[in-house]
Amino acid sequence: MTPFAGRTVKAVFFDIGGPIYDDGNFVAAVLAALDEMRAERGAGPADRARFQAVYDGVRAAQAGSLRRALAAEFLGGQQWRDELHARTRRHWRHPAGTMYADVLPCLRALHGHVRVGVLANQEASVVDALRRDGAAPFIDIWGVSALVGVEKPDPALFEWAVAEAGVAAAEAVHVGNRLDTDVRPARQVGLGTVWVLRGEAPPQPTPDQLAEPDLAVPDLRDLPRLLLGGGE
Ligand SMILES: [Mg+2]
Repeated sequence: MTPFAGRTVKAVFFDIGGPIYDDGNFVAAVLAALDEMRAERGAGPADRARFQAVYDGVRAAQAGSLRRALAAEFLGGQQWRDELHARTRRHWRHPAGTMYADVLPCLRALHGHVRVGVLANQEASVVDALRRDGAAPFIDIWGVSALVGVEKPDPALFEWAVAEAGVAAAEAVHVGNRLDTDVRPARQVGLGTVWVLRGEAPPQPTPDQLAEPDLAVPDLRDLPRLLLGGGE
């Protein structure tokens, strides 16, 4: 068996937006909230090209608050970030058909060999979406921020998940699509790290960015083989 990044993997945790569901679901919620707040100010919908430019800027930097940047650009000031955040949460859904096709095969392959968990900043309703889409039977640990009461990048959420799995941090791997809220805090706690390059990941990651995780992958297809070894 080939160890992953020098470790025997006993638990794998997945970020949800990006690795499991299309980050377009979050974008749609932010846009709905933005347009709603602009309408209350007598303004028209946010310009989509300008929105995309702000979104891509935050993706490229892998740092900073998207909602703060959007509040400054479209609502007249960063002080509207918290209101935009609250409204976005109300609009946030994961509709049927927005789970990536490689998720269920990956979870199915890992389940039973390692402890499998989600570890994500999400509303509690994501649990219903994962049940509806057939992923729930493969998930042992539900590290959903709204349920646990801690948000990434707080190391406490990673420590909670590792403790729930009953493994050492060095025996766990976190799979996420952001450097600031996934790769860096997971590495800080001692987990192995996989960076999934879709959604909020940058369209053109730099060599320095690519050097941060143990592994960067375009999707989940090869993950079971890479994490469990064998089949090479
Ligand atoms: Mg994500």
